[in-house]
Amino acid sequence: MADVKITMLGTGSPRPDLERSGPSQVLTIDDRHILIDCGEGTTAQLMRAGIAPESIQYLFMTHLHSDHVFGYGQFLLGGWGLGRRKLTVVGPKGMKHFHETIINLFEEDITYRTSLGRPGNGVLDVNIIEIDESGEVSCGLPWKISAAQMVHNVLTYGYRFEIEEKTVVLSGDTAPTPAIVELSKGADILVMDACLAPTGVYRNTKSAELQKIWDNLQKEHCSPQQAGEISKEAGVKTLVLTHFLPNIIEEEAKQQAAEVFGGEVIVGKDLQVITVKKSVSTSAFT
Ligand SMILES: [Zn+2]
Ligand SMILES: [Zn+2]
Repeated sequence: MADVKITMLGTGSPRPDLERSGPSQVLTIDDRHILIDCGEGTTAQLMRAGIAPESIQYLFMTHLHSDHVFGYGQFLLGGWGLGRRKLTVVGPKGMKHFHETIINLFEEDITYRTSLGRPGNGVLDVNIIEIDESGEVSCGLPWKISAAQMVHNVLTYGYRFEIEEKTVVLSGDTAPTPAIVELSKGADILVMDACLAPTGVYRNTKSAELQKIWDNLQKEHCSPQQAGEISKEAGVKTLVLTHFLPNIIEEEAKQQAAEVFGGEVIVGKDLQVITVKKSVSTSAFT
């Protein structure tokens, strides 16, 4: 059976935070690494996790909000510099434009580096696959991968990876929606947006500006409790909460999810590695 694990590279949000890097995860299947989102600090976090950035040949982007893409330039050019010669990026419509804009911004830089003798492969021939509807994603990987549109301010996809008997789902950013329940049906692990976890940033704020932002965020993200409700409804085994604002109250976040969801709840931390275990079906032994 394949060895499957998730490394939480960045469990933060748009607010700069020394404790939590920008949103990013690695799904590792045996010795193959797939990157999901590429927030600020992704390349450094990969190195801290002992994963060579150039070894990653697949990146799935959930959406193009700045916090999820800030690390792309460094991942693309830095990984190429380290020797990556092949890259496929899957993302929502707009991914191609975003990628080409980065390439154009650094055109002279790339020309300089190729003039030194580095081949253009891995940076000038990136395979960009744009998805514009929910359904199966075909990108050359040997597993069943599905995308479902989430409820967020811009086009956002959650992804489901079915690797033999093990299923991993990553929500991206989303408000509660039947689409994430459907996508995570029976998943072993759901990595879920819990941006609305209790945090000192917004709690008891006297700032009208912050209060207004907090009110509006309710339409774009989930709370730990909502993440718990989704996991319960979908029959998920382990829920990993992520996408946190600074200074969240971890115990409270965990408790909110655990109040409604009986499975395992993990409050994600940067560089945490979560092994996907398949609970042995008792029917095989009776
Ligand atoms: Zn977002
Ligand atoms: Zn985000």
